[in-house]
Amino acid sequence: MHSFKYKNSELYAEDVPVRKIVEEVGSPVFIYSHETFLRHFNAYQNAFNGQPHTICFALKANSNPAVLKLLANNGCGADVVSGGELYLARRAGIHPSKIVYAGVGKTEHEIIEALKAKILMFNVESSDEMHAINDIARSMKVKAPIALRVNPDIDPMTHPYISTGLKESKFGIPIEEALENYELAKKLGNLDITGIHKHIGSQITTIQPFVDALRKVLLLVHDLKDHGITIKNIDMGGGLGIPYNDEHPPHPKDLSNAVLPLLKGSDINLILEPGRSIAGNAGIFVTKVLYLKKHSKKEFVIVDGGMNDLLRPSLYNAFHSVLPVKKNSRKKVLSDVVGPICESGDFLARGRELPRYDKGELMALMSAGAYGFSMSSNYNSRRRVAEVMVRGNEFHVVREREKYSDLARGTKIPDFLK
Ligand SMILES: *Cc1c(COP(=O)(O)O)cnc(C)c1O
Repeated sequence: MHSFKYKNSELYAEDVPVRKIVEEVGSPVFIYSHETFLRHFNAYQNAFNGQPHTICFALKANSNPAVLKLLANNGCGADVVSGGELYLARRAGIHPSKIVYAGVGKTEHEIIEALKAKILMFNVESSDEMHAINDIARSMKVKAPIALRVNPDIDPMTHPYISTGLKESKFGIPIEEALENYELAKKLGNLDITGIHKHIGSQITTIQPFVDALRKVLLLVHDLKDHGITIKNIDMGGGLGIPYNDEHPPHPKDLSNAVLPLLKGSDINLILEPGRSIAGNAGIFVTKVLYLKKHSKKEFVIVDGGMNDLLRPSLYNAFHSVLPVKKNSRKKVLSDVVGPICESGDFLARGRELPRYDKGELMALMSAGAYGFSMSSNYNSRRRVAEVMVRGNEFHVVREREKYSDLARGTKIPDFLK
């Protein structure tokens, strides 16, 4: 599944010992495997070969420029949700004709930038936004390519915070209201209706929600055709899950096997927006044990990485497998792995049977390549950590650890305080 494996009881990233990277770069650190990123991306490319398709990597999962460059070099597109992500995608060389732009709160400035860039399409989330895009396009004397993000009211059976396709969600337009909104789009004058978009949630571990949602979307596509509206792009969104623990999520090939027959005979361009399933298991987060603190019932393992570096456990109670960088045969103890942040919610793993750690030892939090660094912050005035990419027996720092001076970058002291 990934390229982080033990050799002689030592954890390796591809052919490089993790310990060696930490010795040179320090801890904590995110480590990415070039080979895994590429393999995961190619799995999508190959799985959907039978249909015109565009794989648009969801930048919010991981927007490190080296990662984006690697994907861009191999023909990957981008799903962006902000002007910043649009900037990074283009900077990495991702062709605008492969960029889709989602998000419920696109600003005027961001819409102008995306129109200038000539992206593939805006995934429009409300009729208000549709009017705004139309007005801006008119003032620029262009037509804006759009898809409506419809909300198919499908329960993806995942964590409520990452479930986005239910009726009560803030995302998209209820599917029953899609037709009238498409009719409106047709009338507005500066919109070019090119597609339809849906994204029902994340970390989805079965195929059925994807199939159910696509069926609903296809019914709508037929309906639209009867009303003289032709859909060229169907954007299925992202959301395929990954094994964090003992999940057995479908492979992209399982997804294509289930989905392509529904499109049989059509030349519709299928867009996919995988984030987690490309990046998640292509990265790990490595942290060092600072202190041990015994409690009557369990042991706190205090490490140098915290919730500001890897937020998912605190935010979603998410599970990351914890592995020692140097394997040992010590007996297991019930442990909480906690960070140095002044918050009770600052933990990386809770209630785990882990081999007893020693001070100074390194531990790896697995499956940290998606929503890891990209969700990190400077909370507690901590410097954001370094990111490293491994390829075979080489490794490269692809983002330097921040310096203390970075913490004050852009700030100013007003004269009256001097
Ligand atoms: C977050 C998001 C994705 C990526 O989701 P994953 O679960 O990481 O694959 C794709 N599309 C949209 C619109 C998103 O918001």
